[in-house]
Amino acid sequence: MVGRLVILLRAVAALAGWYIARKKGYNAILWALLCGIVPPLALALPFFPAKAGDGRRCPFCSRPASRLDTVCAQCGRPLPIELAQCGRCGAYVPDRGSCSRCNAPLKRTC
Ligand SMILES: [Zn+2]
Ligand SMILES: [Zn+2]
Repeated sequence: MVGRLVILLRAVAALAGWYIARKKGYNAILWALLCGIVPPLALALPFFPAKAGDGRRCPFCSRPASRLDTVCAQCGRPLPIELAQCGRCGAYVPDRGSCSRCNAPLKRTC
């Protein structure tokens, strides 16, 4: 009976790991496997920082996306280019981490 309980626990942990990892932009399949092997990971996972910390999301599937991405890693659709103002030269340039005009690192305003 204990064996069945452990299998159930692992299944629940894997499902939780898959769900949380998906929401946080991690590799869901990988985390489902990890949580299935080490169930306590599923309890720790909610405290992990979300991968795409810049808050950008795919407008099509609403999955977190990095601002360096040009296409969504999940659905493969092209992501709209976000413009950011360079703090050094004041130009509006594609938000790719650094200014395409003067090469200064772009700071996030929000
Ligand atoms: Zn997408
Ligand atoms: Zn600049």
